[in-house]
Amino acid sequence: MTLDCQEVEDRMAALLDAELSPGEAELVGRHLDACPSCAALLSRMEGQSFPRPTLPAVDAPGFWDRMESRLQAERREIEAVRAAEARAAETAGARPAWWRRELRLSPATVMLYAALLLLAFGLAAVQSLRVDRVQGDLAHMEQRMEREQRLAATPGPALPVEPVGALAQVPFRGSL
Ligand SMILES: [Zn+2]
Repeated sequence: MTLDCQEVEDRMAALLDAELSPGEAELVGRHLDACPSCAALLSRMEGQSFPRPTLPAVDAPGFWDRMESRLQAERREIEAVRAAEARAAETAGARPAWWRRELRLSPATVMLYAALLLLAFGLAAVQSLRVDRVQGDLAHMEQRMEREQRLAATPGPALPVEPVGALAQVPFRGSL
């Protein structure tokens, strides 16, 4: 397999960046040995130096200071609004609504609540499983009792007693 000039040209950038697989690099190298024009192109590309794009320096004296003071101003604004709300609630003689009150729980407390909640859910699940099983047993027993009652109410002719053992699987003549 050989590469033509276009294919080699397509791979030159990758070759220079050492991104070709060994097999491809070998093929390109073979073409370059035999093709002066591609070799010339490669050497031109090697000689090319791309100027690094430079970012224009932005002169922003005191940028972080202004950012900081802006953030602090916003915080003061928020606190002022909160204080005004609290005062309004006080003058109205009412505690702030429960969803406005801040929850101050330590992480340990939160973990404890979460654990209790999980425990409660787990217990509920176990209880409902037990109830299901008991109900299932009850239904089963009711079915059996019903069947026995039906059998007792309609005594059929005495069935022949089948011999115990393997022969029990063989139906008697006339029993079907
Ligand atoms: Zn070529």
